[in-house]
Amino acid sequence: MAMTDTPRIVVGVPREHRAGETRVALSPTALPQITQAGFDVVIEAGAGDRAGYPDATFTARGARVGTRDEAFGTDVVVQVNVMDADASSADLSRLRPGQVVIGAVAPFARPEVVKAVAATGATLFALELVPRTTRAQSMDILSSQAAVAGYKAVLTAANALPKMFPLLTTAAGTIAPAKVFIVGAGVAGLAAIATSRRLGALVEAYDVRPAAREEVESLGARFVELPLETGQEAGSGGYATQLSEEAIRKQQELMATTVAASDVVITTAQVQGSTAPVIITTEMVRGMAPGSVIIDLAAEQGGNCEPTVAGETVDVDGVRVIGVVNLPGAIPVHASQLFGKNVANFLGLMVVDGRFDPGVDDAVMKESVVASGGDVVNNRVREALGLERLPEPEPPAPAPVTDDAPVPEEAAT
Ligand code: NAD
Repeated sequence: MAMTDTPRIVVGVPREHRAGETRVALSPTALPQITQAGFDVVIEAGAGDRAGYPDATFTARGARVGTRDEAFGTDVVVQVNVMDADASSADLSRLRPGQVVIGAVAPFARPEVVKAVAATGATLFALELVPRTTRAQSMDILSSQAAVAGYKAVLTAANALPKMFPLLTTAAGTIAPAKVFIVGAGVAGLAAIATSRRLGALVEAYDVRPAAREEVESLGARFVELPLETGQEAGSGGYATQLSEEAIRKQQELMATTVAASDVVITTAQVQGSTAPVIITTEMVRGMAPGSVIIDLAAEQGGNCEPTVAGETVDVDGVRVIGVVNLPGAIPVHASQLFGKNVANFLGLMVVDGRFDPGVDDAVMKESVVASGGDVVNNRVREALGLERLPEPEPPAPAPVTDDAPVPEEAAT
């Protein structure tokens, strides 16, 4: 729906300043959808340069190029990393009450950024908290960026591995395909399976959720069966829940043989909002052949492998453990295109009956708002900050049962 009843709302896109960030929060491909909905866009000069989108590609689609102050002097600011992930960012002084800020915040890992934005009076939406539901899928930055990361993780592994991925039959003999083991078959894991298969590797995968088996097999990989009670039949909001220490220990024990037989292990296991479970111990890494490679996608959440150091490659007896960070930033053109589309869809939620309404009536907005009216409004973030919980909203009262209540359709037929 387009805005018809209000003056045009302006969206600002500042240049990302976080170290190593190459993406931009809106790509030119997302602009037509936003402008048709009734928004104008101001992009800070050069904001898209590192993502492969020069200013002219934005102006060609109706955006205006301005200064950083102009990008922040808008109604809605969109960022890949809100405040560049820095609670002492100079940009905080550019925010004002009632302004809307949308982007990735890592609200549980960096609650102090939420607190700092709340203090400005701006309303902050953390896109990581968009629920994993069918309706919200088109706004889910974790999914869109994890798909890119899973692909790039395999290319990183293939580059580091002193072997080929595919089977090769030549006059000089036959080369066996690489064996790749993917731990965690969520969005990143499934993208890693598909990419490894395309490169010709033999792929095995494991996930604590039994439901993942079908997806793993449909991509041509073998699901590794571990006789382990995981209790993950129904995770919360599309996510797994944390295993007990005992279950993790058992998992390590049962997985050691598969890890030892693999040329490449790609770990993507996560439980939303928690530090990553340590699944591969140093001992298990030592069991792999020298030259093997581990790509730890969970490096920034503490890592799925004991020796992982985020942003570094650690050598354990000739096995390289690569703690990758910001892989989407290594493919900024498409990562920004997907991120921008997620943002555009989220902005679309704020157009209600032809008016701009950043209120939080919508379920997706309700779950993702973390700061509003000068306060931190998400209880998990409040807990992380040591603040008192806010009272949870009352569940809607059940409709009164009366004699003249309408007869349910099924019963009427
Ligand atoms: P996801 O929630 O879709 O998938 C995670 C999977 O891990 C789930 O299927 C879950 O069931 C599984 N899991 C949880 N505990 C497990 C355990 N003990 N053993 C096996 N499987 C387990 O998450 P995602 O979006 O695919 O992201 C995966 C990881 O990759 C996260 O840590 C995320 O932060 C990270 N990531 C990293 C980058 C990067 O550039 N480094 C980019 C995107 C995502």
